[in-house]
Amino acid sequence: MIKKAKHILTKSQEPRPKAGGLPGGGQVIIMTEVIVCLTFDYDAESVQIRAREEAVRVSKGQFAVKRGMPRILDLFKKHRIQGTFFTCGWVADQYPETVREIVSQNHEIAAHGYLHENFDTLSVYEQKDVLQKTHKALEEIGGPGSVKGFRAPYWRLAHNTLQLITEMGYIYDSSLMTDDRPYILQFPDIAGGTLVEFPVEWFLDDWPLFEMKQKSPSSVFETWKAQFDALLEMDDIPEGHRVFNLTLHPSCTGHAYRIRLLERLIEHMKAAGAKFSTMATVAEDILAKE
Ligand SMILES: [Zn+2]
Repeated sequence: MIKKAKHILTKSQEPRPKAGGLPGGGQVIIMTEVIVCLTFDYDAESVQIRAREEAVRVSKGQFAVKRGMPRILDLFKKHRIQGTFFTCGWVADQYPETVREIVSQNHEIAAHGYLHENFDTLSVYEQKDVLQKTHKALEEIGGPGSVKGFRAPYWRLAHNTLQLITEMGYIYDSSLMTDDRPYILQFPDIAGGTLVEFPVEWFLDDWPLFEMKQKSPSSVFETWKAQFDALLEMDDIPEGHRVFNLTLHPSCTGHAYRIRLLERLIEHMKAAGAKFSTMATVAEDILAKE
């Protein structure tokens, strides 16, 4: 259900009610809050190294490290917003200084496989090995207890992967597509076996739109803006679950015109009163209300 043509006012535009009525006699509807989770999958060239690809493809992944990440971190600093960086363990080992920079700017690092493995092809033993190795590499930089979430490389999960990360004490995942708002997954066989799922979608991912479909900047901007605006107006989403989850890649969105597009989107969302947050913070808020 979509609420029809509401008068949405940002905090700065919101008129102050006077005694005996509202300014102008109109109906003031306080804007609904949307939480924005800008997430980056920091793969660097892990995908190409694992697939033993040739030098040019490897260099495309390296763009993330050399140019993409600095631009993204500068943009976040300029707008004073926090994001979540799903980082491969191999990337943390290979480029610790860039991951340290993410952490030093109070962004979140979360797990994304060690060398961008397809979990659906791994045995339970292999999955555990990859998860532990990744966790260790990220915690060495982020500190104990800093890694709380997971996103499957390629959004491909084995049937038991989410149980394995719940056993490790992770509080959220962001790989599934069952809903358009965060929801709870329960694992009754695991003590404290509750996981918050932040669903993803292909149209909310820079890679298919820019790299596969070669969409124009205005078309991508309009798609993401339309989804954000619609989330503001949907009346079937509980408080705290109105989350705009965007999946981005430094090697893709790090290019100059795409960074400008992301900045336009951030400005639009800020003007509408959006709250920018890491996924771990949103997951903790949801779990606290459970
Ligand atoms: Zn990835």
